Amino acid sequence: MLVDELYVECRAGDGGRGCCSFRRERYVPKGGPDGGDGGHGGSVYFTCNPSLNDLTFYRFNPLQRAGRGGHGRGSLCHGHDGRNIRLALPPGTQVLDDGEVVWEARQDEPEFCAVRGGRGGFGNAHFKSSTRRAPRFAEPGQSGEQRRLKLMLKMIADCGIVGFPNAGKSTLLSVVTTARPKIADYPFTTLEPNLGVVRGRDYRSFVLADIPGLIPGAHTGAGLGNRFLKHIERTKALLFLIDISESSGRDPFDDYVALRRELECFSAALLERPSLVAASKRDILQDTRRLASFRARMRRQGKKVFALSAVTGQGVRPLVKALFAELPGAPVSK
Ligand code: GDP
Ligand code: MG
Repeated sequence: MLVDELYVECRAGDGGRGCCSFRRERYVPKGGPDGGDGGHGGSVYFTCNPSLNDLTFYRFNPLQRAGRGGHGRGSLCHGHDGRNIRLALPPGTQVLDDGEVVWEARQDEPEFCAVRGGRGGFGNAHFKSSTRRAPRFAEPGQSGEQRRLKLMLKMIADCGIVGFPNAGKSTLLSVVTTARPKIADYPFTTLEPNLGVVRGRDYRSFVLADIPGLIPGAHTGAGLGNRFLKHIERTKALLFLIDISESSGRDPFDDYVALRRELECFSAALLERPSLVAASKRDILQDTRRLASFRARMRRQGKKVFALSAVTGQGVRPLVKALFAELPGAPVSK
């Protein structure tokens, strides 16, 4: 299950109490106030960690608490400061407070302080003065802030595979990456986006996602609806995967047009994204004229068609190479 939206409760630590104490020592009569200050409470920060790709950790750890400050003690002992915590988020995660985006995880973004710890209270030694030589009070610590924040992950991949159910998206992903999505011969096998890392030569790699649920009317919420369309929004390139075999019962070019229309209804900017077109299930295609006519019609659109079969592996390498060329800024794997 892809965890891409949830709430976390962030609690900062309370500040420690100041101490009220007086120095008592042999040969030091009336030693004066010596209560130390309380330590500050810890804060909760968000940072970006590019090696993460979903929010599963927070599903099981929805309450995040920073450490509290220690209390001050006699002999001017200062309480210890509470431990800060840093919560790592995958790039592209938005942090929302009451529906408003307050921060977005990006590698170049400095960390974000979600809730600040309370200040420690002053001990009585802090309040001494020439006229008040024995203050018999100390301050309590301030309490830490609390906030319930929503985390929403949007960017999950460099390249998204879009295609109708059963087009072979999951199969292709399982062939070019080590991801093992569920594959079966019925629509809606895939209920959440699957991700995989495609590794190339020169230690280059990119993240490929199989984005399910794209059917006519998806932008209005049909099928799995627009739940996953938001992930397509953040990809750098798109791969249209179209079932070329007769088994689909549809015309491949109509499929392509329908897919583009669906994307356009969601966001017109998507159509300007670099995209490649691949025809899947080449191995079970009976009538090669079907492929030839699809190619010809796509050529008129200025698009090359990569015919492939994920089952036999035919045509897969050239497509992967073309994807690497399409994604010049793809991150180098670590
Ligand atoms: P998705 O819904 O787009 O993810 O489609 P799947 O990857 O689950 O594939 C649907 C069905 O098509 C499965 O039964 C696959 O075995 C089959 N399939 C996928 N790619 C190919 C291919 O290249 N050749 C053949 N013969 N079958 C394929
Ligand atoms: Mg699938």
